[in-house]
Amino acid sequence: MTDQTTRHLPAGLPDRIQHYIGGKLVDSVDGDTFDVLEPVTNEVYVRAAAGKAADVALAVAAAREAFVNGPWPRMLPRERSRVLHRIADIVESRDARLAELESFDSGLPITQALGQARRAAENFRFFADLVVAQSDDTFKVPGRQINYVNRKPIGVAGLITPWNTPFMLESWKLGPALATGNTVVLKPAEFTPLSASLWAGIFEEAGLPDGVFNLVNGLGEDAGDALVKHPDVPLISFTGESSTGQLIFANAAPYLKGLSMELGGKSPAVVFADADLEAAIDATIFGVFSLNGERCTAGSRILVERSVYDEFVERYAERAERVVVGDPQDPRTEVGALVHPEHYEKVVSYIEIGRSEGRLVAGGGRPEGFEAGNYVAPTVFADVPPSARIFQEEIFGPVVAITPFDTEEEALALANGVRYGLAAYVWTNDLKRAHNFAQSVEAGMVWLNSNNVRDLRTPFGGVKASGLGHEGGYRSIDFYTDQQAVHITLGEVHNPTFGKGA
Ligand code: NAD
Repeated sequence: MTDQTTRHLPAGLPDRIQHYIGGKLVDSVDGDTFDVLEPVTNEVYVRAAAGKAADVALAVAAAREAFVNGPWPRMLPRERSRVLHRIADIVESRDARLAELESFDSGLPITQALGQARRAAENFRFFADLVVAQSDDTFKVPGRQINYVNRKPIGVAGLITPWNTPFMLESWKLGPALATGNTVVLKPAEFTPLSASLWAGIFEEAGLPDGVFNLVNGLGEDAGDALVKHPDVPLISFTGESSTGQLIFANAAPYLKGLSMELGGKSPAVVFADADLEAAIDATIFGVFSLNGERCTAGSRILVERSVYDEFVERYAERAERVVVGDPQDPRTEVGALVHPEHYEKVVSYIEIGRSEGRLVAGGGRPEGFEAGNYVAPTVFADVPPSARIFQEEIFGPVVAITPFDTEEEALALANGVRYGLAAYVWTNDLKRAHNFAQSVEAGMVWLNSNNVRDLRTPFGGVKASGLGHEGGYRSIDFYTDQQAVHITLGEVHNPTFGKGA
């Protein structure tokens, strides 16, 4: 582990963060703001506009005006595609700066923030191409009839995003929503508003018309809630905690809104005795400790076949102790600072719970030499029973629970024995077993001898408490478009004699 020897403060930090409504940066109607903290010191480094229902109403009105009367929804897909490619170019050309700011604001290690910035550019490029490749379906029907499907943007999309990898997760929603001709109101997470504040400049430079993109900062229960309950927002794409998802689901119900929900996880990584143990350790260490463990698809429960269990636990704990904790801005850092003191307290309280539920074999709280900031040592608990809270509940930090199993059936029961169903990872050299496991495991995504590498065309989403619906590739296009069926008769109308008498 490194200590906090060097601190790199980004130059040119903003002196305030505002909303962006109808092409203009504005403060809240009531002038209210909230504090934004830097995770390494927990000092307030900027204040952001605290949006409420009045600010959301202005943003939705601007987005609605741009949708009803503006050029964006009426442009050809290839015209919109050009703007999206320009956005991707700008993001790519500023990847280092974006990574620097994201790392500063969220505590994410800078090398990983750089990867996320590049992925954000890829997201725009991908949806820019996909929307052009998308062709409407036309069907010839017997009796000289033609049916075709008219894909139409739906309107104002409300996008509500979390604080983990915020810029990249915002791009994941902005890309398809804009590519398909919707206008948007983004409500980013209140812990990390800095990178979201950069979108306005990027979009202006790329030539996105005013009013197409709008941003309202603020707390979830104020700005987020108002967006969910606004009658002119027919679509909500939400990523965040399952409990927040439940609330949004209920609040959107009276309006019958389109909903996409990417929620929490407690994903199993199942290691069979015949697996390549070294590869499984490499991947499962990365899978739970990268992105500070603040990763929805983290393999935070490792299930290990008993004949290799002791060896696995020993080697895993030794590797976890060697993971480099340090200043997020230091390129050597592998685990930075957790996003916010509230989240830090939550993670540390789970570690305290874990002490009586399992056997602590690595880490265990604040690492030595880190007096301030939200630093947590990579923490490993072994012998964790399935009834334990650290087995059942999402911790969303660098904490992992390891549990032994004896049979494939038991491994499957353990894997499926939680309320979540986002991802699953299986390590075995038995091809049949791997695929059988994939068939039976309750997870939206399965990685076999593989770790989190994903082509943007594949569906992304979870089952059970981990989500509702899938995005990714054409599924995102489907979510952000209305598929209107148009039926035309080229010959005789059907049943021409009906009602004319016998
Ligand atoms: P969160 O649910 O606390 O907040 C997410 C967003 O919702 C924030 O912008 C917040 O302000 C807003 N919000 C809060 N209350 C609201 C309300 N009543 N109405 C409308 N909006 C409201 O989640 P978080 O702590 O920011 O993010 C971490 C969670 O996100 C974890 O559970 C993680 O697993 C999940 N996540 C899931 C995925 C996925 O793809 N499945 C990806 C990333 C993160």
